[in-house]
This record gives sequence, structure tokens and C-alpha cells, in this order.
Amino acid sequence: MAEIKLSESRDLTRIERIGAHSHIRGLGLDSALEPRAVSEGMVGQASARKAAGVILQMIKEGKIAGRAVLLAGQPGTGKTAIAMGIAKSLGQETPFAMLAGSELFSLEMSKTEALMQAFRKAIGVRIKEETEVIEGEVVEIQIDRPAASGAASKTGKLTLKTTEMETVYDLGAKMIEALGKEKIQSGDVIAIDKASGKITKLGRSFARSRDYDAMGPQTKFVQCPDGELQKRKEVVHSVTLHEIDVINSRTQGFLALFTGDTGEIRTEVREQIDTKVAEWREEGKAEIVPGVLFIDEVHMLDIECFSFLNRALENEMAPILVVATNRGITNIRGTNYKSPHGIPIDLLDRLLIISTQPYTEDEIHKILGIRCQEEDVEMSEDAKVLLTKIGVEASLRYAIQLITAAALACQKRKGKLVEMEDISRVYQLFLDLKRSTQYLMEYQNQYMFNEMPTREGDED
Ligand code: ATP
Repeated sequence: MAEIKLSESRDLTRIERIGAHSHIRGLGLDSALEPRAVSEGMVGQASARKAAGVILQMIKEGKIAGRAVLLAGQPGTGKTAIAMGIAKSLGQETPFAMLAGSELFSLEMSKTEALMQAFRKAIGVRIKEETEVIEGEVVEIQIDRPAASGAASKTGKLTLKTTEMETVYDLGAKMIEALGKEKIQSGDVIAIDKASGKITKLGRSFARSRDYDAMGPQTKFVQCPDGELQKRKEVVHSVTLHEIDVINSRTQGFLALFTGDTGEIRTEVREQIDTKVAEWREEGKAEIVPGVLFIDEVHMLDIECFSFLNRALENEMAPILVVATNRGITNIRGTNYKSPHGIPIDLLDRLLIISTQPYTEDEIHKILGIRCQEEDVEMSEDAKVLLTKIGVEASLRYAIQLITAAALACQKRKGKLVEMEDISRVYQLFLDLKRSTQYLMEYQNQYMFNEMPTREGDED
């Protein structure tokens, strides 16, 4: 096994990239897990946030490994935002991996391999490495060297001084590293050359040492402590199973961790790693930290992926799976069967379902206010009210997207505050879904391949 020295295990880079949710800093709950009206960038959606808070608590207590949660609701009702809120509230120690269902079909690897990698990115391993140190009272010996060499060892004056505990730990580790722990006994005097760091054991009786004269004036002498000589100090490395896989996969090597170009990892490599990790766990050297795997647009998965998920959840090391969808009753991809959210009912039956509700006008107004702050856009109250109306009529997401566009329109007219005129301008420039559909209905005959879909789900 290659040596593992990585300390960062969370897959957060992808979350940061999705600017749409950068204002979300948590679930906005109080200590009793009750949702605050507006907190940590979150507004409304009280019961879904409360439910997510309970899940979060269970994750933190390590109670729901291998279980799965479904966030279901209409488009733009904050499913992804809630998943982000969960991610942000988990400690640094808990891995969080994210994947959109559609990504599985565009990667240069099989769907199940991509899913397997996502699963293993969401499983943390805390590897405990034990370093040996010397504990006890270590004394530093200072010697006043007489000017002439020769009889120094006999005439040297010894003063004993206790060193600080911190340096004692480092020193102990260095001594053992240099000399081997079996060679050190309490009372031994050790000489450390301050310039080169070289450590030499001088034996128990300092006065008899023949090496003394040969040592430079920079030498520091230390006496090993009485009492407990060897004590273990724990160093913990947090990595994910996926990182261990990549480091040990000969074809890729650890650099693939930075490029993301990991390719497929052979089953034998994973099996070896699982066996090794199981050994470490038995010896108490490692601990598994089940993280969270979030799959957005879960209806984009097909029947093969769903059966993979069903099986993967059985594994004792499985992470917590959080999936989200905005689909109603629809086809299960890869079959002719329909089911709620396009998810097979055997998997659906295992899910804890959290549903999200459409926002009220007031909530939309507040979310838009938060987004204006996040995007550093100053907007007049009138403009915000107009934008809120647009959000209610069209969609929250459309209204959010108009913020930056309106700020640019404002900049162009050399204004400082985004006004209603800027909002109307960009509202006319960019169509929302309803107006775009309307336009299509009117002019569809002039478009290419203009047949209307005959079956639901054809557009997938
Ligand atoms: P879809 O089904 O289309 O994927 P979704 O339910 O995942 O939609 P989001 O993407 O989470 O919806 O929400 C749309 C936008 O509104 C995002 O920018 C999101 O951060 C923001 N948003 C949604 N809900 C909230 C909320 N409760 N508080 C603050 N911001 C929110």
C-alpha cells in the first residue's frame, strides 16, 4: 500500500463552483433543530428544513449509514439548496460528494463505475498512525567547557534543566527515530549536534564518555527521563476510500487526484483496499466515517444504476445517500414502466421522503433580497417588488437570473441603483419558460423537426 498523507477528504470543490447556492451557509436551524425564519441564507421551506435537520443529526451521530433520503418537489423549490445546507452543516471530517444524474452519461467510464467512484468519495477513512515519544521529565544538561580540551569530561560542570514539554515530544520522537527504541533507557545521556541534528547515545554515565571531546561546542546533552519512557502519540489522516483507490491504482497514480482524470479502477485494486482497511479496522488503526453522497436529478438514472444503488446501500460501509428529483410519475429510464419520480418502487420504499413546497410571494422577495446581497447588487425596493412579481409569475430561478443582467443594464445607463426600468429591460430581453413556450406554439411550424412529442418522457 502506498503511504497516505492526504488530509483533505471532502469533495467540496464542486459545491463552491455552483454559484447559484453560494448564499447557503447551513440549514438555518436553532439548537433545538427548529428552523429560523431567515438564517444562514435560508428562507421558508420550514418543514423540509426541519426534516433535513433531523437527518443531519442522525448523520452526525453515525446512525443512518446505508440509508437514503429523497428530496422531492417542484422545480426551484430549494431541493439542491437544502442538500447544500446539509453539506455545509456537516463537520470537515464528514465527506460530502455530489453528482448530477445526467453526468453519469457523459463521463469516460461506465455508469456503474462512475457511481462506484462517487460512493467511495463519500466514505471517509480515518487512519491513525502511532508515533512513539518519550514522556516524563527530560532534562537538558549544560556543560561549562574548560578552555583547554583534554580533561573536559572530568572537569565539566553539569547543570540539569527541565525542558519544555513540547520540545520533549519532538525530542523523544527524534531519539527513537535515530537510535531505535530498544536502545534507549531511562537515565541515558544523548548528545545532539545542534547544527546537523545528529543524535548520539553516550551511555548512562556521562562522565565516562570517550566521545565527549570529539563533539563540537554546539552539542546539546540530554538525559532520558526516568519514569515511562515510551508513550504513543496519535496522528490522524483523513482520506476517502476513493483517494486510497486512486493512489493505489497503478495505471493512474496519485496525480490523477488533482486532474480528476482517474479512469476506471480495477475491481482487484478495490478488493485489496477493502481487505486492508478491514484489517486496519480490526487492529484499531482505522475507522470508517460514512459521509453523504448527493445525487441531483435522480430520475436521470436508469434501471441498471438503480439496481446498483440498491445493492450498494446494503454494504456495511455505505454512505448516506441523498437524492433529489422534480419529476412526478414518469418512466423509469431503461424500462417501459412508470413509477413515482421515475424511481423503482423497491428503492423508493427504502427512502425517507422529504417534500418541498412552492414559495410564497414574501419568501420569494426575501430570497431575492439575499441573492442581491450575494451578487453585490444594489436594488431599489420598487425594483425588488417587480422582480418578486416576475418570480411568482415565471419562476424563482428566472427572477434570480435577472439580478445580474439587470445590474449590467443599470451599469450601461451609468446608474448606481438597479431600478424598475432595468428589470423591465432585461425582462424583455430574456424570455422565461412560459413566454418561450408561447412563442414556440405560435411559430413551431417554422422550426426544424417540429413534431410535438407524442409520449411523455420522450424529451429525456
Ligand atoms: P430543480 O428541481 O429545478 O433542480 P431545486 O428544487 O433543486 O430545483 P434550487 O436549485 O435549490 O431548486 O433553488 C433555486 C434557487 O433558489 C437556487 O439559487 C437556490 O439556492 C435558491 N433557493 C431555493 N430555496 C431557497 C431557500 N429556501 N432559501 C434561500 N434560497 C433558496
